[in-house]
Amino acid sequence: MFRVGIPTLIDKDTTLRVKIHDACGLTCTFCHDEGTPVAVDNRERQPGQFRAAGPSGRMSIYAETNGATFLPASVPADDEFAHALTALGEALELTQVHLTGGEPTLHPAVAGLTKIAARAGYQVAMTSNGERGERVIPDCADAGLHRVNFSIFGTTAAELAEVQHARYRNPVLAQWKIDALKRSIKACETHGVKASANIVVPDHTHAPRVHRLLDEYSPQLTVRLLNSLGRGADSIQAIERILADRGAVAEAHYITAGVSGARTAYRLPDQRRVYFKQIRPVRLPTTCVGCRFNNGTDCEEGFYGVRLYYDQTGTFQVGVCIQRMDLCLPLSKFLTSPLRTEILTLRNAEYNRLAARLAG
Ligand code: SF4
Repeated sequence: MFRVGIPTLIDKDTTLRVKIHDACGLTCTFCHDEGTPVAVDNRERQPGQFRAAGPSGRMSIYAETNGATFLPASVPADDEFAHALTALGEALELTQVHLTGGEPTLHPAVAGLTKIAARAGYQVAMTSNGERGERVIPDCADAGLHRVNFSIFGTTAAELAEVQHARYRNPVLAQWKIDALKRSIKACETHGVKASANIVVPDHTHAPRVHRLLDEYSPQLTVRLLNSLGRGADSIQAIERILADRGAVAEAHYITAGVSGARTAYRLPDQRRVYFKQIRPVRLPTTCVGCRFNNGTDCEEGFYGVRLYYDQTGTFQVGVCIQRMDLCLPLSKFLTSPLRTEILTLRNAEYNRLAARLAG
């Protein structure tokens, strides 16, 4: 867990991921859609009948197996959202909100939601494919947006087209999306919003994608290389080889106590920072015990933190696992549930254990 020869830094997870919107203009074949079924494709279905794929071409890979009980709706930019953030923030000692989707830049009030979260005392970040960032990032920056993590699904039109639904495997459309992504990154630079690029590296055949990203995009763009959980050692070795080929030097290792995230920071010869992000096998001590996915292969994300959803009945729902959406609780129930205590206990116990190990 700790890396030899570089400092290890430990902090506590204080992030809330909020799914603000379900719509997206891409149809990536591997999308987990934050665990909810694609709303537009499942309107006529009841829980238990949700489908992973539908007429829109979009995908929600766990929707047929995760026991989802609701369809997602767009979070309203109103007092109800502010109250939900405040209540959950106090209950779980949270400091960061991470806006997700679908594609959050397509939410018509994304800047308003950003402002509400910032006023509630959160540092606000967003995960985006860059589709509409050029138009909304200036207002989001004014509202307090701190950082955008851009998901890079292809650095060329052919690469991006290849991971889209067959009906949308169109290089012209893909090039349009890549150009929009580049303009969104530029908008971040112009408006003082930090930008990073997340890119999954399944094996070494994907190395050219990473090299193109590093060569063609601004050095101000922090790059985060993610291993593919399904590809095991091939993926990890590919990332290590890419880093070695670029002359990357490891500088620090970061562990977030209470969730599965960990990352190692590297510095490239041109001073750009690159992170290698990996999943640790963290589980909720009680909730995960009897889970059917709790083995070495089926639990793909581990306990990744808390997610907030808004359902089509107008209820905020709190989730703890995208593979087990049946564990979601309405916000009012979550606040007094043992699950809340379990999350806090795990976070503090892990922090203390890691800190003691580091000190010893
Ligand atoms: S994080 Fe826990 S609940 Fe989710 S799949 Fe893994 S073991 Fe199951």
